Amino acid sequence: MKILKQGLSKAELEKKRKRTKQFECYECGCIFSADAGEYKFEEDYIYTTYFCDCPNCSEKAFEYIGR
Ligand SMILES: [Zn+2]
Repeated sequence: MKILKQGLSKAELEKKRKRTKQFECYECGCIFSADAGEYKFEEDYIYTTYFCDCPNCSEKAFEYIGR
């Protein structure tokens, strides 16, 4: 076989399969990742908001979009 166009790396593929997301807690500053099933989400007409309980302080943390 010959790859004509390189796809995602194994690590990236794993993240995609598990739908892993990064979260940031605004209460304590903890940044962590969670797989599908560990986080919750709310959908409205335009946006989907992902959130998860912080493993450090148990406050609600929101998806980390990076800065
Ligand atoms: Zn926290």
